[in-house]
Amino acid sequence: MRVGDYEAVIGLEVHVQLSTESKLFCGCSTTFGASPNTQVCATCLGYPGSLPVLNRAALRMAVRAGLAFGSTIARETKFDRKNYFYADLPKGYQISQFDVPYADGGVVSFVRSDGSDRAIRLTRIHLEEDAGKSSHDDVSPVSRIDLNRCGTPLLEMVSEPELRDAEDADGFLRTVRETVRWIAVADANMEEGSLRCDVNLSLRPVGSTELGTRTEVKNLNSFAFVRGAIEAEAVRQESVLAQGGSIVQETRLYDPERRQTVSMRSKEDAHDYRYFPEPDLPPVDIPVSWIAEQSSHVGVLPSERRRLMIANHHLSDRDAAQMTSTRELAEYFEATVEAGARADQASNWLQNELPQWMNEHDYSLTELSLAPAGLAAILAAVDSDRMSTATAREVLREVLASGSDPDGVIASKGDQLSDEGAIRSLIDQVLADNVDAVARLQGGESKVRGFLMGQVMKRSRGKINPKVANALLDERLAE
Ligand code: ADP
Ligand code: MG
Ligand code: ZN
Repeated sequence: MRVGDYEAVIGLEVHVQLSTESKLFCGCSTTFGASPNTQVCATCLGYPGSLPVLNRAALRMAVRAGLAFGSTIARETKFDRKNYFYADLPKGYQISQFDVPYADGGVVSFVRSDGSDRAIRLTRIHLEEDAGKSSHDDVSPVSRIDLNRCGTPLLEMVSEPELRDAEDADGFLRTVRETVRWIAVADANMEEGSLRCDVNLSLRPVGSTELGTRTEVKNLNSFAFVRGAIEAEAVRQESVLAQGGSIVQETRLYDPERRQTVSMRSKEDAHDYRYFPEPDLPPVDIPVSWIAEQSSHVGVLPSERRRLMIANHHLSDRDAAQMTSTRELAEYFEATVEAGARADQASNWLQNELPQWMNEHDYSLTELSLAPAGLAAILAAVDSDRMSTATAREVLREVLASGSDPDGVIASKGDQLSDEGAIRSLIDQVLADNVDAVARLQGGESKVRGFLMGQVMKRSRGKINPKVANALLDERLAE
């Protein structure tokens, strides 16, 4: 991104809330939306004498995320206290990780709209607890504090300063969201605050390789705000520099209404926090075998899944993106194809007929009684002209609603001797394959009609009603 004589350099710090049932160091619930201050205990409120205990599920999810981003998982990690005072942090410190994060390096890869590949390196990922939440009243001069969020597990992902514009930030965040959802370690909803982002941005003269002084815009909770903050902050810094001024390293906030960033406080450095090892938590050993076990749960990630679907099943980019919108759908699609369905047909039905029924009946894919093999059987019946598409839709709806065995429903409906749609498409195929015969018939050789009718009966393996077929053939020939 160029602004005047400068280009932007951007590094992101992304907070992802892990979807554990309980908090990082105590047993309190993490359910979103509970009444304020109902999900708290002595530990997450930091009462003297309380002791934290690491939540194993949080470490498991964190390690899976690290593996998904290609980070190196530490064999031994530890927690540190980050000390600061704020009303939403009753302990006076946050338990975080300072010099030995559990995950080192890694990369977030995505494709830009012009088709170019981007691979933004991660510096590190660490595990930490969240603070509470303050809200400020517009009318009366009070602030309210809800401590339910205190102690909720967060990943903090720190990127190298390798992003260049708002589109990079967008691609980065979408990939993070897709990945953590795919491996089921986070919901990553920006609206609910379970995915939040700080933007670090500096400018440098175009062509320079040195980093300029940066500012940090904190707590952006929508894709639009991230984009807006990057654009506004780049323009602001350029105007400061163009007037001969210099950038002050500081923390800023984004005001979406005015589309401007505003100064919040001067930037603190690490030493301001007086980090020191958390004395109440022993260092954590992470066995290699346990890491390997987590790796097997991560599996093939969506971008690779898309590549394989395009290469092996010849799906379009768009269809492959649709089929990887969730892991469940990707697995359902692949199992349907594995069971013999044509890939384009499976993708089509999984984008249209199935979601339509699921929306009407408020079902999710995992709740369906129809197994992928059943869907493949229905699609095969259409493919072999045993049923028309319209009949197949009926079969699908009946199977979904009743939970009956698809083969039985196909047999009862699909072999109906008078499925007009199927007979019509069969006749069309016979006519298309016998253009010469049709021409001779139209030229007056009436006995050819018998040959064509014979072909229709043969192709249906004698299953269609000859009377209906005769009538439909006449109809078609008269067109
Ligand atoms: P902190 O903000 O906690 O002091 P760091 O100094 O490690 O932490 O940097 C945090 C983020 O700022 C990282 O994403 C890093 O890539 C980015 N960053 C560091 N220096 C610059 C710079 N000059 N311009 C843009 N981004 C930067
Ligand atoms: Mg920071
Ligand atoms: Zn608690």
